[in-house]
Amino acid sequence: MNFLQLQKKFPNEKSVVDYFVNMRYQGVPACLHCGSIAVYHREDKSHKVFQCMDCNNSFSIFKGTIFENSSTDLTKWMYAIHLFLNGKKGISGLQLMREIGVTYKTAWRMLKQIRLAMGDEDMKTYFETIVEIDETYVGGKPRKGNKGRNDNGDNTDSKNKRGRGTKKTPVVGVIDRDNKKVHAKVALPNKDGKKLTGKQLLSILNEVTKAGATVMTDEFRSYNILSSNGFIHLKVDHTKEFAVGATHTNNIESFWATLKRGVYGIYHSISVKYLQQYVNEFCFRYNNRKNGEMFDLLMVKTIR
Ligand SMILES: [Zn+2]
Repeated sequence: MNFLQLQKKFPNEKSVVDYFVNMRYQGVPACLHCGSIAVYHREDKSHKVFQCMDCNNSFSIFKGTIFENSSTDLTKWMYAIHLFLNGKKGISGLQLMREIGVTYKTAWRMLKQIRLAMGDEDMKTYFETIVEIDETYVGGKPRKGNKGRNDNGDNTDSKNKRGRGTKKTPVVGVIDRDNKKVHAKVALPNKDGKKLTGKQLLSILNEVTKAGATVMTDEFRSYNILSSNGFIHLKVDHTKEFAVGATHTNNIESFWATLKRGVYGIYHSISVKYLQQYVNEFCFRYNNRKNGEMFDLLMVKTIR
């Protein structure tokens, strides 16, 4: 959907309500209190409010969705979702603030809500025969209080200077070679900067694949666990070459490139606490990049 189509689809708030009633209630809105379908649209009150004639309660058609507690115009929401889904690297709160004319706080909150809707994709059906798995490290924000070597109260890690302010968080990604769907998870960093273990990698792989699949990795030793766990493990040694025949990890690496361009280019830095939500955002966009119904899919996912 391009911008003109979006404008046509949602010329006003009423059109968003109609769209939502069709999607959520198949055109027949039901009372959220008693289930009656004897309800009418209280257009005098707010576009969102419906009134039940049986139990006399009024209710918001958006109850239990990301729009529930927002007073922002619904057409602005639709435009925000459109921008968020179509910007390859995402969109920052500042950009959205300027685009739709809301405060920065509102823009930031809207993006957070849309990002939540992009999460928890059910990936179980995706990964069948050949997958690539790889890990990357995303730089978190330098921690508070880390202003320099001499800041007070921080004299205990003199041995750890190299790591200071450059703490990075591992993200593990699995991509299906055939349909190019990606699944990525933030892994908890190990103490003392130790590398990810085979068990950590295996548990993320097991979320989306079954034993018997062919798994392509680089030469990282922790992947050696795969062959003793029922996977056919093929690896390429990146210190020597980037592909051995069809054995390579180019697909997942190109996803990392997109993720990193977004993280550093648009969001600049992300705290570890929110990193998984951002990773979900990039997975959703990547997995639906050829899906003409991406917008509608996201709208379904706005219902909690
Ligand atoms: Zn009712």
